[in-house]
Amino acid sequence: MGTKLHGAAKRAVGRCETVRKVKDTPPGAADPTTVYRQVGSDGFSRYREVVFCTALSGCVASNKSGTAESNAFVSFMQIKRSVLLRRRGFFVLKSAAAAKEKGRLMKNCEKYKKQYFVPEGVSMDWMFKDAIEKPPIWCSVDLRDGNQALVTPMDLSEKLNFFKTLCKLGFKEIEIGFPAASETEYTFCRTLIEQDLIPDDVTIQVLTQSREHIIAKTFEALKGAKRAIVHLYNSTSVAQREQVFRRSKEEIVEIAVTGAKLCREYREKTEGCFVFEYSPESFTGTEPAFAAEICNKVIDIWQPTPEDKVIINLPVTVSHSMPHVYGAQVEYMCKNLHNRENLIISLHPHNDRGCAVADSEMGLLAGGDRIEGTLFGNGERTGNVDIITLALNLYSQGIEPGLDFSDLPAITEVYEKVTGMHVYERQPYSGKLVFAAFSGSHQDAIAKGMKWREEKGGVWNVPYLPIDPEDVGRVYEADVIRINSQSGKGGIGYILETRYHHVLPPKMREAFGYHIKSISDHEHRELQPQEVYDIFVRDFVNRADVLKVEKATYVETDTGVMAITRLSVDGKAIEVSASGNGRLDAMHAAIRKVLGVEYTIEQYTQHALEEKSTSQAAAYVGIRKGNQAFWGAGIDSDIIASSVRALVSAVNRMLGAQKEN
Ligand SMILES: [Zn+2]
Repeated sequence: MGTKLHGAAKRAVGRCETVRKVKDTPPGAADPTTVYRQVGSDGFSRYREVVFCTALSGCVASNKSGTAESNAFVSFMQIKRSVLLRRRGFFVLKSAAAAKEKGRLMKNCEKYKKQYFVPEGVSMDWMFKDAIEKPPIWCSVDLRDGNQALVTPMDLSEKLNFFKTLCKLGFKEIEIGFPAASETEYTFCRTLIEQDLIPDDVTIQVLTQSREHIIAKTFEALKGAKRAIVHLYNSTSVAQREQVFRRSKEEIVEIAVTGAKLCREYREKTEGCFVFEYSPESFTGTEPAFAAEICNKVIDIWQPTPEDKVIINLPVTVSHSMPHVYGAQVEYMCKNLHNRENLIISLHPHNDRGCAVADSEMGLLAGGDRIEGTLFGNGERTGNVDIITLALNLYSQGIEPGLDFSDLPAITEVYEKVTGMHVYERQPYSGKLVFAAFSGSHQDAIAKGMKWREEKGGVWNVPYLPIDPEDVGRVYEADVIRINSQSGKGGIGYILETRYHHVLPPKMREAFGYHIKSISDHEHRELQPQEVYDIFVRDFVNRADVLKVEKATYVETDTGVMAITRLSVDGKAIEVSASGNGRLDAMHAAIRKVLGVEYTIEQYTQHALEEKSTSQAAAYVGIRKGNQAFWGAGIDSDIIASSVRALVSAVNRMLGAQKEN
């Protein structure tokens, strides 16, 4: 039965024999399919399936023993039904079975091998240092490395805007692009120079490949710049040498040497002050000895001096190893480069393994002087190292980082606008949620920590907050204590206290905490501070929904106070008088008479409410009936009136609860 094959189907099936036609239509397929088998030289059978002549979903099933071959076919059909029609890919039963045999969940780990080289002759003694003592030289590569990784690269005005922001943050070295590579980048470079937009203490940096016309154009782009870093690079890793450039080590060295010489020549011909930087690109995939050799060739040509230092940049173009291995590579380079004292060792970590910050910190411990990175870690693939994190890591240990990140929300806004990227909610220091505490115990600890700080001062060590959120432009009420069903009395009390000046007694705070939690839980959402306050006012303050004091006068008697009142219960007014040792107590007695309910006052506190110019008093009363406690609050310009209102509120909460039951 000849099914005619075309295009991709024909190529994929190759020289297969038809084993059977499948008549039943698998789910998702419109037509019957044909399955082909190919027996490979390894003795494994591979099944491939063609759906409706042209569309191919392939599968490789295998089994060494012929008797089990039909089983393999059955497996193939089963897997195909469940997966393949959706995935249109190859599913390797052989590896799946092998992986299963070895207890593995991922099939292909045999495919991978370490791609890095551990340098010889390193001491790793920097590992004994526990902290970085001074900030590195910071170089922003947002406008080059960061920009080239954007879905939509920045336009000229966005670049100018971003450049200004970077200058404002305190960057003194800013890589602005690859002016010889694109018209936009050339124009950007020229605009900065011609419109005199580069502050005197800021040095721009440009990237160039090691080719004469590119180097020539790069220097042309820099004409008139007061000071600029010319950054020459070529790829040196094993993978790049073998696969991309197909050149020997000698030829790769030759590329660097030619570029270094050309840079030197063009510098002599061009007016201005130019600093040289060289990167053995893909350094982390390069044999350390070869990396040192190629850098030394470049250093020997450039002949750095104390006045004319050379930057040697050691990029983690792709990260392959744990951070301490990169540290060892940096140590090796520091020990084996010529003229080390006149070099600036620069680090440029990418984040493939999520270790860009750790790589940077290890690299600095191991001898690095400079960091190339971006804001929020924007950059190719998983990005470059996030300079904000690095800087604030230093800051959180009492070191001035030399960059101004005191208004992260504003920086985030500019960044998101010009790059079209989004700062992840849990991005260290800058994410929306990184200071937020939802859980009750965390909130409680933070609230107590803040109180402790208020009283005792000293170094910052508030639980759960590695730095003071206010130092980076965040606000406690909005950013720290967030209220949802996980929250507890501490956080909720903290919000009422710091924002609305209500200092609830601890037991009442607990009761109100449960009240808020159940509302948040029920509505399944976070509550804003204002909502928390509104609920407090609605449910606890000056309540008069069932029991209401229509009128009250108090007369002093020999034994205390007599309350002469008109109270109403559910709208029915009742005149009643009762005595007590004070006004609150007398009202308490009057209420008991009217309601005929026994309850006791357990707690009463009050304080002045600070927030308003007209002074108000807030009172809190806790009453107990049997094993249940009820809380109420009262606000009034008169202290006694506020306490009576608090009592009436508590009684109303009790009556409300009785009605519900
Ligand atoms: Zn990079």
